[in-house]
Amino acid sequence: METRATDEQIRAVCERIASRSLQTHVVRGSLRTAIAVTGNSGAIDIGSLESMPGVLECTAVSKPYKLAGRDAHPESTVIHISTPLGVAAVGGRSVAMIAGPCAIESREQAFTIAECVKAAGARLFRGGAYKPRTSPYSFQGLGEPGLKILREVREQFGLGIVTEAVDQESLDLVEVVADVIQIGARSMQNFSLLKRAGRARKPILLKRGMSATLDEFLMAAEYIMAEGNDAVILCERGVRTFNDHTRNTLDLSAIPAIHRRSHLPIIVDPSHGTGQRRNVLPLARAAVAAGADGLLVEVHHAPEAALSDGRQAILPAEFAQLMAEGREIAAVIGNTLS
Ligand code: PEP
Ligand code: MN
Repeated sequence: METRATDEQIRAVCERIASRSLQTHVVRGSLRTAIAVTGNSGAIDIGSLESMPGVLECTAVSKPYKLAGRDAHPESTVIHISTPLGVAAVGGRSVAMIAGPCAIESREQAFTIAECVKAAGARLFRGGAYKPRTSPYSFQGLGEPGLKILREVREQFGLGIVTEAVDQESLDLVEVVADVIQIGARSMQNFSLLKRAGRARKPILLKRGMSATLDEFLMAAEYIMAEGNDAVILCERGVRTFNDHTRNTLDLSAIPAIHRRSHLPIIVDPSHGTGQRRNVLPLARAAVAAGADGLLVEVHHAPEAALSDGRQAILPAEFAQLMAEGREIAAVIGNTLS
């Protein structure tokens, strides 16, 4: 309440709250009075209280994401991804490495990269068959033939498959092949797609929208979970800022901030986060050191010929180096690279 709020105004606010079957707790300080509200099961519409005489401000203490939040679920969630070679864990003390090209371009390209990724020790392979591109004239992905190649990669190399669905139609097809369904940054607030992902029976890798706050990010996860799918892996992939020396600004402080707010695992994509090959390894190391539950990295054996995101793809040898360094860095903070 405002410092000059009268007893009458305080009483009126308490009565308004009580009329909604909620409890009030009046806390009188030397300068001002605060009124705490309890007994609500969901979010309260604070707008009507805020406009009452004598009210200074209304602050929501509990967060609107009940399923994604840590309040009701204090222990960290570990997501188990089944691959032909066994289960890969994401979260808790397990750091998952997910690597592969931006897009599936051909069987030969996918197989070459899958072989390198597997040789370096990773268990999860990424690659888009459906690409959400800024320009309609850019390569849009191979679509269904791309999914067929991913299915072959899974069979041939035993790697788990992470691939993106861009709409409900592609999700129907991706769901059959993928071990993890990716929802891209541009789709983070495509609520009908999020609901469909919530009805899928595979884990979802949800990327942070390029201008999404953490609350918006977690509310997007809440959409998926509210439909019954608890297996959501969050992914920080850089946000838009005034910085123009990188493609995006990778927000590594989101890692501890998400861990504080949510029990869900948070992985980091230093490829889209920086957009520059030379910056991928430094930021990937930093992400592991900051406690990320995994990395999503773009790898290409011939980046100059890549049909998308070649500038940010690291070479297979660099990926092998990252696996070795990541393992050591993870160990320093008690984590294990899975
Ligand atoms: C991707 O992972 O290839 C991709 C398109 O990422 P984002 O949605 O983060 O831009
Ligand atoms: Mn990409």
